[in-house]
Amino acid sequence: MSEASYKKFQLYCNNCHWKRLTDGGDIKDLYEIKTSPVPTGIPIFDPETKKIITPKPQSQKRKFRCPTCGFAIVPRVVPDYQKEADAKLEIQDRALKRKELEEKILKDRNRRSNEEDRIDGSEAGAEGRAIQRPDSFGNEG
Ligand SMILES: [Zn+2]
Repeated sequence: MSEASYKKFQLYCNNCHWKRLTDGGDIKDLYEIKTSPVPTGIPIFDPETKKIITPKPQSQKRKFRCPTCGFAIVPRVVPDYQKEADAKLEIQDRALKRKELEEKILKDRNRRSNEEDRIDGSEAGAEGRAIQRPDSFGNEG
């Protein structure tokens, strides 16, 4: 729900101060000014491949015409603070989970080495077997 309300671009007219926030899907009513790609450099001859390399022309930023005064508007990207915050949280969460997993593996390893020390014939590993481990950690070299 909150995702849909996020508007990615801001259209702002410097001339008449007309403004609109858009996610790119609701600009069909606006007139888009056609822009042609701009050459980025002169073609170069490559002696190795014996081919002429033409630098890729760079397409210009999209432009729209202001619906009220006709002034050209270049959309500006609105920073997604919520997404950034979410991404940061996810990274933190992942780091935490990894730490937990590492600790678990370490604990598991310690317990197993303790069990190996038990030579009195008591049921070593009984406790370890009871704890479910993911298969990927089952075969330790
Ligand atoms: Zn305008």
